[in-house]
Amino acid sequence: MVNLKSLNTVLQKNNAILVAVSKTQSNERILDIYNSGQRVFGENRVQELAQKYEELPKDIQWHLIGHLQRNKVKYIASFVKLIHSVDSFQLLKEINKQAKKHDRIIECLLQIRIADEATKFGLTPEAVEDLLQAPDFKDFNNVRIIGLMGMATFTYEKTQVRQEFKRLKSLFDLLKTKYFEEASWFKEISMGMSGDYEIALEEGSTIVRIGSLIFGHRQ
Ligand SMILES: *Cc1c(COP(=O)(O)O)cnc(C)c1O
Repeated sequence: MVNLKSLNTVLQKNNAILVAVSKTQSNERILDIYNSGQRVFGENRVQELAQKYEELPKDIQWHLIGHLQRNKVKYIASFVKLIHSVDSFQLLKEINKQAKKHDRIIECLLQIRIADEATKFGLTPEAVEDLLQAPDFKDFNNVRIIGLMGMATFTYEKTQVRQEFKRLKSLFDLLKTKYFEEASWFKEISMGMSGDYEIALEEGSTIVRIGSLIFGHRQ
């Protein structure tokens, strides 16, 4: 486990922020971390996220980091701060629709498949451009794409992990020039977890999602 203060010092030096991944953790454990100053927390399941939002302090910024089904967007649309896992046009459309009902703009990251594991969700580089070129995209006034997210392959091969993060960063750079040159808000790259956040920071991460290093192992 890591000391939150020293982790934050490292992150500050790299201009990155911490999402404390609190999935499966009790409210009590989350409040411990909250009381040491952390305000950004991430969950990967909608139901757990909605429940914790109800029960915990309202100044927590909640991020959804896991796969999101379209029919569940409505349960989090009123409060979610950032959705890391947008992986289809239809999902983005639904987020826009639900955000509009609450008269708000929901910030989103497009999740890119960088790992060579079939199990990991995400858009291919081709699919992400199709999404950005879709005629309806410019009418989505209640979502704001602020960057990309990716998960590296779960492996001890550090060169492979680094390669995958490099790929995400260069895709980000490409999309920035091609689609978001004028969009100052398109600036985030969510990459890096407990096992690989140091490599991610070296490769340009601006948001790390860290669970077990902060909370200890999950059940
Ligand atoms: C669980 C999870 C994390 C955090 O994993 P740790 O290895 O505990 O740091 C990060 N991102 C996503 C998408 C997750 O589901």
